[in-house]
Amino acid sequence: MTVDSFPTEPEAANELMRLARQINRANRKYHAEDAPEITDAEYDALVRRNAALEAAFPHLMRPDSPSNKVGHEIAASPLGKVPHEVRMMSLDNAFTDEEVAEFVTRVRRFLSLTADEPVLLTAEDKIDGLSCSLRYEKGRLVRAATRGDGQVGEDVTPNVAHIPDIVQELKGEDIPEVFEVRGEVYMEKAAFLALNAQLMDEARAAAEAKGEAFDDTTVRQFANPRNAAAGSLRQKDASVTAKRPLRFWAHGWGAASHVPGTSQHEVVRRIESWGLPVSPQFRLCENLDAMLAAYRATREGRAALPFEIDGVVYKVDRLDWQARLGFVAKAPRWALAHKFPAERAETVLESIDIQVGRTGKLTPVGRLKPVLVGGVTVTNVTLHNRDEIARLGVRPGDRVVLQRAGDVIPQVVDNLTREVEREPYLFPDHCPECHSEAVAAEGEVDVRCTGGLVCPAQRTERLKHFVSRAALDIEGLGEKTIDEFFAKGWLESPADIFRLRKRRDEILSLEGWKDKSVDNLLAAVENKRSPDAARLLFGLGIRHVGAVTARDLLKRFTTLPELRALAEQAHVKEGEDAVVAASEAYSELVSIDGVGPVVVEALGDFFHEDHNRAVWDDLLSEVSPPPYVVETKDSAVAGKTVVFTGKLETMSRDEAKAQAERLGAKAAGTVSAKTDLIVAGPGAGSKLKKAAELGIEVIDEAAWAQIVQDAG
Ligand SMILES: [Zn+2]
Repeated sequence: MTVDSFPTEPEAANELMRLARQINRANRKYHAEDAPEITDAEYDALVRRNAALEAAFPHLMRPDSPSNKVGHEIAASPLGKVPHEVRMMSLDNAFTDEEVAEFVTRVRRFLSLTADEPVLLTAEDKIDGLSCSLRYEKGRLVRAATRGDGQVGEDVTPNVAHIPDIVQELKGEDIPEVFEVRGEVYMEKAAFLALNAQLMDEARAAAEAKGEAFDDTTVRQFANPRNAAAGSLRQKDASVTAKRPLRFWAHGWGAASHVPGTSQHEVVRRIESWGLPVSPQFRLCENLDAMLAAYRATREGRAALPFEIDGVVYKVDRLDWQARLGFVAKAPRWALAHKFPAERAETVLESIDIQVGRTGKLTPVGRLKPVLVGGVTVTNVTLHNRDEIARLGVRPGDRVVLQRAGDVIPQVVDNLTREVEREPYLFPDHCPECHSEAVAAEGEVDVRCTGGLVCPAQRTERLKHFVSRAALDIEGLGEKTIDEFFAKGWLESPADIFRLRKRRDEILSLEGWKDKSVDNLLAAVENKRSPDAARLLFGLGIRHVGAVTARDLLKRFTTLPELRALAEQAHVKEGEDAVVAASEAYSELVSIDGVGPVVVEALGDFFHEDHNRAVWDDLLSEVSPPPYVVETKDSAVAGKTVVFTGKLETMSRDEAKAQAERLGAKAAGTVSAKTDLIVAGPGAGSKLKKAAELGIEVIDEAAWAQIVQDAG
């Protein structure tokens, strides 16, 4: 079993790189070569670890991250590929009541509903199975496919013929010409245990028949019912599937020639009337309290169920609202999975170490007596910050309760020996690396080293971040090399990396370097003289600007100088918040999807620092990133810049912007010569005047709705 631990940022970046490679290799072996090298459980552990690291370090998420794909990538599956006409989505997760409340609030805000307008939501069991899409034409099952990566799945039509729950023909009223039922193939708990026992028996019998000694550790059993269902369904030989007691229930639909109903519950009930099972605990909730009550009732009753569930799924009931809410990345805005709480374990906190990150943040890491939590051995845990240590009252030697929720990185949730007398833990007031004072800014919980540029930990961590895989990705410039070059005084700032060629002879004189390795390094550096603008921006390590945020920013601005100019205008100086918050630069920046006030302030702060401006100018004298290329979709407004102004009547401003982005357009907040189209509601005022001066096309909200509709 893998050993779970809490890594530093560079460690996490390296591990994510390794995981991407391992998972992609495992996918290839499993699907293309049909020769898995690791067990499903090992595969799942890698995927979980990858997801946990990405959750803890969202800015380190790699462009080739395995989690960008919904499930297994289908390379050359022996089962044959099936492209999904309508993409199969995954769900956003929530773990607390507060997160569920936020979800409902977000839905209301997005739809700009009045406070007294009811929002009905459905609640149903979230079964831990394998997603499957069943295509019925004229009521007959013509194809069954797994989710695959969400866009392309595997053909399991002959396999599902052996699942009694999946009818070959729909019977009843209002059956559409074409209708894809989406649901989950699963195995009940008892069947899962029986299958594992049977696999063991078969292996024993086979060994005896051959006169060999039986070794039960070599028998491949399934780790959990979900794996058993997946392994049983995805068989080249459908007669194997036939012997496995698989079940199915429906929870939604994909492509449809018409949708038989105007609400989620109507359509689900209609599907049920055609002969397909649906979640046995399907409810309609009138408000948040009803949703949470459904969740609690389900959680309390789960152990008695014949199948494993891992939460409750809520969906906005009205289908017209679902359509307006749309999707973010690979998950719908109108659905949420409320997961059950996590597994817990007790252990001893042996010591507390302090790590210094590239922003100077002092992170306390708890070293634990190794303990199993939910099947994973945990040896380290982050204690986050000084306040968290105080809240828990933990000291080395204390007995603590660990928790892993939804496969995320474990947390200390309780201190069982708080009352035992022991020296209190004193959070350091000096940086363990450079001995500068370490303080928390007013209103902040994080203690940071004030050493700034004198702190070697911060400076080298920044350089390491700059060259890391998710940023500039300079091969051959590893952490040790950075430390070594830094110690020699060759790397004062990122730009110095591009001046290393002047030090060819000096590098060559270092131990371990040969002509070839030096040339390779210098070539790798030269190779990055026209870097991707988003990676470069991310590489600068501006607080709160992760890889995804960097891309979001450049989608809107395409070049770095343009972004910098706006960020400087939007800078919030003390005591001027109100003025600046009202400025156009500020509102344009905050209006970008995924960019909030925190990011805008961090950008402004960064560009107001003389030193940062110097580092930036120096760097841009060495590299020239080409304008960022935004992928466009096929629509009348693809690639265009759209400004929404005035009062929109059928949708919120956020919804309008999200629509524009879905159609491949850029939604801007201010009218300029670059604006292609203005969508104006009543009271648009000054922006219309400016549009007229610049000769920009102006349309009303109805015309915009038509464009959205035409794009499909
Ligand atoms: Zn320091």
